[in-house]
Amino acid sequence: MLLIPSLKSKTKKSEVGQIADPEDFYIPLDGYRNVMTPLVEIGNQVEKYQLLAACDGLFAASIHAPVSGIVKGTFNLNGKQFLHLQNDFRNRETLAAVIAMEEITQEQFAERLFEYGIEGAGGSRFPTGLKFKKNETPIKTIIVNGAECEPYLSADYALMKHHTAELLRAAVLIKKVLGAEQIVFAIEKQNKELEKLLLRSARENEVKINVKILPDSYPQGGELQVIKSVTGKELKKGSIPAQHGILVNNVGTLWSIYNAFFHSRPTIERIVTISGNRCANTGNYKVKIGTPIAHLLRETGNEWNPDEQMIILGGAMMGKAVSSPLLPIHKGSGGLLVMQKLRLESDNCIKCGACVDVCPQKLMPLEFVRFNQSGNTASLKDFNLLDCIECGACAYVCPSDVPLMENIFRGKDKLLKNA
Ligand code: SF4
Ligand code: SF4
Repeated sequence: MLLIPSLKSKTKKSEVGQIADPEDFYIPLDGYRNVMTPLVEIGNQVEKYQLLAACDGLFAASIHAPVSGIVKGTFNLNGKQFLHLQNDFRNRETLAAVIAMEEITQEQFAERLFEYGIEGAGGSRFPTGLKFKKNETPIKTIIVNGAECEPYLSADYALMKHHTAELLRAAVLIKKVLGAEQIVFAIEKQNKELEKLLLRSARENEVKINVKILPDSYPQGGELQVIKSVTGKELKKGSIPAQHGILVNNVGTLWSIYNAFFHSRPTIERIVTISGNRCANTGNYKVKIGTPIAHLLRETGNEWNPDEQMIILGGAMMGKAVSSPLLPIHKGSGGLLVMQKLRLESDNCIKCGACVDVCPQKLMPLEFVRFNQSGNTASLKDFNLLDCIECGACAYVCPSDVPLMENIFRGKDKLLKNA
């Protein structure tokens, strides 16, 4: 794994600010793999928390209204579908009754996770309900993943610091539902000060937890990497942790679980780090899902200026440059970065092998460029491109600025389309 300089100091000490709600929300209808079907029509008046879209398949969770307002329709941007909701600024809300948790079974719990629209907040957007489906191996260990290895991001840190007791309550609920043996909070060494806070809060709430301090390496926050650091077990890409008695939830996901089960609130917002080397007013902010990037930039004193800046949704390593100011925050967006624009041309690969040495999946990233550019999808498959976790470590170390990630994304698209 890589050691990369941390740039979290830009936001780590900030309180969690609130971003004013925009007039127009563009709510993503695509989920992890399935697309959701709107359950509302143009002109419908909706209330905050109302169900807006759902999915027949298992690979997406539901979508709820972040505010009250009027449905203006759907539109397509960059090949993805969005629902346009116009805010009426009345914040009229509708909430279901709080669930009686004493009697809840594992199946009911999983079902509720879909209904409350809970997805992996660490970036994957994997529907959390799927992780709770019954399997033959009992879950022994619940790992709360607080390893936020992206250099600029501190949204998970802010959650653990400011909502410690709530995260513990959610973890205890999960432990009870699954009949698990232990809860382990996994945090990085650079955030070691959280250990005291977590243990104190656990003592006060009479909860037993373990805290595991992880190295400050990248990509420590990946599910398989965190499992290896906490349990010593090295699982292959594609393995299902539950089959090894392990369940991993990101702290942002836990926060959503707390809101759902203790307050009956579906996921309509998350904490987002706004930062970067060209960003004004960096900080951590609570942001509603569907808030357009242009609004966030305006509210934090930044502007959409793609000639001079690169706007990245996510972190510097795994995030993606955005092409439209209308694109919104989704349930997996932990960050929005305003960065100095880099030159886009690439030099030739000098076959130094640095990208191969650094790859946590033991892949050969330079070959992905060659095979993608020549359209050789059979070799992309043979060289296990689909095992790539898109961590960006190869691109970070490449001395020639070979556009490795661009070729990886395009190559994966080709393989998935041909699948
Ligand atoms: S090939 Fe994929 S997994 Fe390997 S370093 Fe590059 S982005 Fe990370
Ligand atoms: S790190 Fe860059 S230059 Fe070196 S082998 Fe990989 S792609 Fe080529």
